[in-house]
Amino acid sequence: MSLMDKVKELLAPDEGETVLYDYECQECETTFTSSEEQESVTCDNCGSTDLEEVGRMYAGGGGGAPG
Ligand SMILES: [Zn+2]
Repeated sequence: MSLMDKVKELLAPDEGETVLYDYECQECETTFTSSEEQESVTCDNCGSTDLEEVGRMYAGGGGGAPG
């Protein structure tokens, strides 16, 4: 693989990659994991939308987590 191919691969989003977000509910302090982005997710426990993202994980694709 050439360097340019490698750069292109890094820049292009991998459609096979799933992002899992860890959220903490600010209402009831439940933490849960969702593949939805924050604006479209509600608390698993109480239904609140007052959530804070506390972490994220990349599943599928490849390359591992940066940093
Ligand atoms: Zn809650």
